[in-house]
Amino acid sequence: SPDGHDYEIQRDRVCLMDILGNGQFGDVHKGIYRDKDGNEIPVAVKTCKEDNEESMTEKFLEEALIMQQFDHPHIVKLVGICSENRPVWIVMELAKHGEMRAYLQNNKHRLDLCTLIMYSYQLSTALSYLESKKFVHRDIAARNVLVSAHDSVKLGDFGLSRWVEEQRVCIWEILMYGIKPFQGVKNNDVIGKIENGERLPLPPGCPPSLYNLMCVCWSYEPSKRPSFSDLKSWLSRRVLSWGSNGSV
Ligand code: ATP
Repeated sequence: SPDGHDYEIQRDRVCLMDILGNGQFGDVHKGIYRDKDGNEIPVAVKTCKEDNEESMTEKFLEEALIMQQFDHPHIVKLVGICSENRPVWIVMELAKHGEMRAYLQNNKHRLDLCTLIMYSYQLSTALSYLESKKFVHRDIAARNVLVSAHDSVKLGDFGLSRWVEEQRVCIWEILMYGIKPFQGVKNNDVIGKIENGERLPLPPGCPPSLYNLMCVCWSYEPSKRPSFSDLKSWLSRRVLSWGSNGSV
């Protein structure tokens, strides 16, 4: 598209460094992008393997098209794409501390309730922003959230491959320090449990009013679930009133 063209960047402005992880289409590298003013910007570069079919490459670039529509402090920003020759790269803002799940698990001792609720609040602002743009992120799990700084998390990964997965409420995973919900339960059995009214347990140290909120989000009847903008205003009030000692 003519718009997409604005995002094309010169490959020689990007220097690839070590691998951060593997994506569905190829490796994701840490890198440095040198902008027009000569600033060196830390970036994450998603690469698309050269032996992927053309249709795969198009799918890969769709993620960049989605990302370029958004401008929010808690959504990973697109820096640009290198698509004029192979391998195709998607260059985006680097989230220095990587995946939130691992970060929660590895930094348990220095993550107090106040910080966990702030993360939930930040994500609610991002999701409420997407909701206002009539865009639904269907895979809100802790593994799709990246940590930029100790006090800032961002929604990453708009990969279409993940859109088909079920919706989850990520606040529970944050309060459980990255433990996966329904661990050891088969996907089919999860549906049965939900239909029987079973819900995830109260995370240790979680204020009961926050747990009540999660339970409303898990309402079987979609119309009973709050919108992201409701969640955002609910959490913003709590972020202010809950101290780091976790008292309500
Ligand atoms: P999947 O096969 O799971 O669909 P994908 O193609 O969507 O993968 P990602 O999961 O987004 O790829 O990226 C793979 C890994 O690269 C992530 O798990 C994360 O560790 C790392 N990563 C991706 N984007 C960033 C970023 N902006 N900053 C830091 N690390 C990142």
